[in-house]
Amino acid sequence: MSDCIFCKIANGEIPSATIFENEDVRVILDIAPAAKGHAIMLVKKHVANIFELDKETAGKIFAVVPKVAAAIKEVTGCDGMNILQNNGPAAGQTVFHLHIHFIPRFENDTVNVKWATGGYADGEAAELAKKIADKIK
Ligand code: AMP
Ligand code: ZN
Repeated sequence: MSDCIFCKIANGEIPSATIFENEDVRVILDIAPAAKGHAIMLVKKHVANIFELDKETAGKIFAVVPKVAAAIKEVTGCDGMNILQNNGPAAGQTVFHLHIHFIPRFENDTVNVKWATGGYADGEAAELAKKIADKIK
C-alpha cells in the first residue's frame, strides 16, 4: 500500500529505530512509548489486521515474538510485559497495518491495560462457546 506509513517503515523507506528484522517482519521502537523499550513488530507485507492474516505468515511472525520479548526484558530489566495487538478502531487500532505491541511493565508503573469485568447468565457461556467453536475450522 503506497500511502501506508508502516509499509514504508517495514520496508526501510522511512528510517526507524529497528531492533530486529528478517524477511517477514521489522521490529522497531514505538515513537510514543508507553514505557521505554515499548516496541512494535510490523509485518512486511501489508495486512490491515489479524482478520486478514494468512496462517503461514501468522506462524512465521508469531515464532519471532518470544526472542524479541526476551531481549527487551533483558535490556530494560522490566518485571513483566504486555504483548498485544489492536484490530479495528473499536479496539483502539490507529494505524491500519498489522502490528504487535511489546510493552515492558514495571511494578507499580502507570501503564493501564485493565478493563471492567462482566459475567454470564446461566448457560450463556456454554452456548456462546459452542457457537464460536462451531466456526473454528
Ligand atoms: P495502534 O493504536 O495499536 O494502531 O498502535 C499504533 C502505534 O504506532 C502507536 O503506539 C504509535 O505510537 C505508533 N507509531 C505511529 N507512528 C509511528 C512511527 N512513525 N514510528 C514508530 N511508531 C509509530
Ligand atoms: Zn501497510
